[in-house]
Amino acid sequence: MGENNARLVAVLTGAGVSTESGIPDYRGPQGVWRKNPGAERLVTYRAYMDDPEVRRESWRMRMTSPVWRAEPNAGHRALVDLERSGTPMRIITQNIDGLHQKAGSTPRKVLELHGTASTVVCTGCGDRGPMEGALARVEAGEADPPCLSCGGILKSATVMFGQALDSGTIQQAAKIARVCDLFLAVGTSLQVEPAASLCRVAVESGARLVIVNAEPTPYDALADQLIREPIGTALPGLVSEITDSA
Ligand SMILES: [Zn+2]
Repeated sequence: MGENNARLVAVLTGAGVSTESGIPDYRGPQGVWRKNPGAERLVTYRAYMDDPEVRRESWRMRMTSPVWRAEPNAGHRALVDLERSGTPMRIITQNIDGLHQKAGSTPRKVLELHGTASTVVCTGCGDRGPMEGALARVEAGEADPPCLSCGGILKSATVMFGQALDSGTIQQAAKIARVCDLFLAVGTSLQVEPAASLCRVAVESGARLVIVNAEPTPYDALADQLIREPIGTALPGLVSEITDSA
């Protein structure tokens, strides 16, 4: 699969890819939020919009998020190596931590299904800006900083529970799943949409499916290869196999 042929590798990444960077699984079925109703309220759109105390608590949580000091790990770096080998590839991620880009993956080749924590968006006018600026305002004493353009409620540019995923992003992800020749599902339980559907679309379109996950997934029976090893060692090995078979 070298740069002289048109084969495309799609890599779906989930929380498991970031746990080795010290970021817990928040959103998954066994994640921090789902197992703690109090925490889940902080990332539920309706509660966030309706309750100023939820917003203040959310800003406190963002201030102390492990995302800001997390560094990419061997799994992220392996995917950078795959891209730099000249293999056509796209990353579809469920993670909001920006670690693929921080590791060196080309931003336009990373589709963020659940948005990004490094940007704030106004729920009133749609204005976007860096999270860093909003956090500086919180640190300076604004417990729930409003939009500087319209006074509306600001939130991180991530998809909260009760919010729809961006339709353009889903369509792009579905297209990648349809046209890829190899679909790697890494560190995702494949129990939440649209990740599960993407996997099905890829297999039905004739792609080889490789699943790298510590726990069984509903798609294991469809996989051509199952890897249970830790991602930090499994992914570099897998990337070597792909680039060596060029
Ligand atoms: Zn606004």
